[in-house]
This record gives sequence, structure tokens and C-alpha cells, in this order.
Amino acid sequence: MAQGRTARELDPGGDSLESQSSGPNRGGVPRVDASDHDVHRRCADRGTGEARLTAEDEAYMRRALALARRAGEAGEVPVGALVVRDGTVIGEGWNRPVGAADATSHAETEAIRAACRGVANYRLTGATLYVTLEPCLMCTGAIFHARIDRVVFGARDPKTGVAGSVLDLYATPLNHHAAVEGGVLADECGALLRDFFAARR
Ligand SMILES: [Zn+2]
Repeated sequence: MAQGRTARELDPGGDSLESQSSGPNRGGVPRVDASDHDVHRRCADRGTGEARLTAEDEAYMRRALALARRAGEAGEVPVGALVVRDGTVIGEGWNRPVGAADATSHAETEAIRAACRGVANYRLTGATLYVTLEPCLMCTGAIFHARIDRVVFGARDPKTGVAGSVLDLYATPLNHHAAVEGGVLADECGALLRDFFAARR
């Protein structure tokens, strides 16, 4: 896997974020309420989704968790994502809207941008996107536009998740390509977010 190189390329150089990290500015960022037990819930409501999960899925989700921690260390809501195709990581990203001063800099969009640049193609047919938190509306749009085949997420997001929580856009005619499966390492993904918000209170 080539994640080391890509990760450095994406490094926002987070020191300058410290001054912003204690404020309430989380606009556009997925939130998980620390008291909401939905983040623990595995994705049992998605039928046979769990059946396709493999040890490889878990390993990639552990990498996504490591990327999420990088976001947290920079004072950003800790969400991480990576794009994998043919057993190779082709893009990585972590949530960094505050540091980037960019509302669209979620983990998924960062990973998709890195992957598209890396393979010099705006379509990522055949790819799987791993993300520690259920995708939001914006990221789901990017996933659909990129023609990503499969989305594997960790914790549910009862506030902005659109893979079954607030909405299920993956079950609408908007989705032509992407299978979605949730609940992979959901407890760890959710705990990272709860600990982050608890530390800010
Ligand atoms: Zn998003």
C-alpha cells in the first residue's frame, strides 16, 4: 500500500489549526452526539451487507481509523477515509474543513480527490471507499459522481448520515453503482468521535 506517501501529500500542516480548534466552528462537519447510542449499532438493517465483509475490509478500516486520528490531532472532527482498488490504496484523506477553510474537505472528498488525481481519472469504477463515519449528503454525491462501486463505513451518523440514518440515498434512483455496507469497527469509529467531543466540553 502506498498510503504513507499519499498521507504526507495530504498533510495540512496542522499546527496553525490549534487556534481554531477550541471554538464551536464545526460547520458542515458530521457530528455524532456522544449520548446517541446509534453510533454503536451495527448495520443489521442492510440485509445481506455484512456477509461480504472480510478481514481485508477490517484492515482497511483500521487504516481509516488511523487517518481519523490524524484529523483529531489537528483539532478536526476525527473522520478518516481511503479509496482502494485492486488491492491498492489509491487515495487517502481525513476530515479537515477548518484547516483547509473549505466546507467540502470531508474525509471522503479528500480521499476521492487524491484517488482521482493519482489515477488521472475522474471516475473510480471498481473502487471501494472506506470511511469511519456514515457518509453525508455531499460526500454521497461525490461517491456517486466518482462511480465508486462500494462504500464501507464504520459508525452511523444519526445527524447527517444518508446511508440509512437520516435518509438512505443509496436506495434511491440517484444511486446506480454503489453498494453500501456499514458497521465495520463501528464501536472504535464511534468511540473516537465521542472521545473527541467529550474532550471539547
Ligand atoms: Zn461528508
